[in-house]
Amino acid sequence: MSSPVTTAKPAPDRYPDLADRRLAATMTAEDHAEDRGLDPFERTTCRTHRRWLHQCVASPQHVVVITGHRWCRDCACALTVLVDELTGDVRLTCPRCRTTPDNRVTRQLVRACRGSLAAAAEGRDRTRTP
Ligand SMILES: [Zn+2]
Ligand SMILES: [Zn+2]
Repeated sequence: MSSPVTTAKPAPDRYPDLADRRLAATMTAEDHAEDRGLDPFERTTCRTHRRWLHQCVASPQHVVVITGHRWCRDCACALTVLVDELTGDVRLTCPRCRTTPDNRVTRQLVRACRGSLAAAAEGRDRTRTP
């Protein structure tokens, strides 16, 4: 029954009011990992919106011009986010040049969103099991 995900000692629950307990646990774990040096852009949860990343990555607050996250430098334009919850696919497309910027930060963001989709889906499946 034990989860292989975390081996560290359980962190104190920072989000006791969140209905999604799996989200709360993941968010707490990532908060602590971030304190220990995890790149905040590797997170699958969002501390600002208290959601899975793929659920709020379309928010303007996830556009970071300085780093280039969700940003097309060629067009100086925020990327549009398309999340397919069924296939687990995530696409970031520039609404002006209609391409996905081929750079490290865009790939990183897509990877984090896919991770969050997978984690959220896993939680749902577990809840459904009798
Ligand atoms: Zn967010
Ligand atoms: Zn563009």
